Amino acid sequence: MAAVPVVIGSRIASTGPQSSPVADQLVDTHGRVHRDLRISLTDRCSLRCTYCMPEQGNEWLARTSILSTDEIIELAEVAVSLGIRTFRLTGGEPLLRTDIADIVRRIAALGSAERPVEVAMTTNGITLAAKLPELIDAGLTRLNISIDTIQRQRFADLTRRDRLDDVFEGIAAAAASPLRPLKLNAVAMRGVNDDELVDLLAFAMDSGAQLRFIEQMPLDAGHTWDRNTMVTREEILAALSERWQLTPVPGRGGAPAEKWTIDGGPHEVGVIASVTAPFCGACDRLRLTADGQLRNCLFSLTEYDLTGLLRSEDAKGAAPADRTAAIADLLHSCVRGKLPGHAIDDPSFLQPARGMNAIGG
Ligand code: SAM
Ligand code: SF4
Repeated sequence: MAAVPVVIGSRIASTGPQSSPVADQLVDTHGRVHRDLRISLTDRCSLRCTYCMPEQGNEWLARTSILSTDEIIELAEVAVSLGIRTFRLTGGEPLLRTDIADIVRRIAALGSAERPVEVAMTTNGITLAAKLPELIDAGLTRLNISIDTIQRQRFADLTRRDRLDDVFEGIAAAAASPLRPLKLNAVAMRGVNDDELVDLLAFAMDSGAQLRFIEQMPLDAGHTWDRNTMVTREEILAALSERWQLTPVPGRGGAPAEKWTIDGGPHEVGVIASVTAPFCGACDRLRLTADGQLRNCLFSLTEYDLTGLLRSEDAKGAAPADRTAAIADLLHSCVRGKLPGHAIDDPSFLQPARGMNAIGG
């Protein structure tokens, strides 16, 4: 994985007049304005989903390399000044961070009437029931919960942990909370849960949640993904259409999911077809890994080293305004380096070295 060296020393040392990068928006060379930052809080997880993590032998990030709450907030504050308006906390499993409520509270506090900020989270739902009141009090505004099967043995096989009841408990707590829309995520997999797509959608509707099916992407630790056997958007729609009438919802904007109303509404279902119908042209997302690497795409092979910048000797002694300017420079570099699309279908496509749990989904 290529890391981009950061030159905070020279940036801080420079004294001549400069335009303030902090006043600028994060616009890439293809005109895409970036509004969404996904922050991975840890690569650790309470599950071991086969399409994401190995069963054992994972190379964990060193604990000392994981960004502290203060470091995350320092980046988030600059990001808000550059136009980021949605923060999604993810991982690994974000609820494993003991300081999760503090992180939510401090990011939410960066918002104002002129610059409203949303704090969303993607979680596997385990321990959510106990933590949700505190998270809502801290300012959490939206939740996505992942559930790929509602069959107990299948869940245990797929996640290598027998914890489906804990996930159900988390979904029930979220459904009883005021957070709306509540979204559920399910990765569709051939021979694993592709016979269960209708049942998953019926379950989501009964839970008052909107289900989004996700095409499986080449981000598994075992590098076993195969374009020829993955379940496609078309197959997902065909399976659901046998039971319901689906009507496309117009006005997708930059959202990853295409949506359909079910039997005329009000229920809706989404499909995130990253592989067969990529939405890169409208992508407004950046990512920060738990060890402080900025990424402009899930599939990027280049990372921009925030940790190196924040922890360098130069940065430690720098004035706050210079640190801010250096972080803004790094964000701009990351955005400028963004390619037009991920090219999964290109024969030269290379899967990133990190698995999904270490990038942040
Ligand atoms: N642990 C949390 C969870 O599972 O919701 C957050 C992190 S997880 C990496 C975020 C999302 O990425 C989940 O919805 C998960 O299903 C999805 N995901 C993981 N690996 C994937 C893959 N190879 N292809 C498509 N989606 C994937
Ligand atoms: Fe953990 Fe989420 Fe990856 Fe499953 S998808 S192993 S819950 S990080």
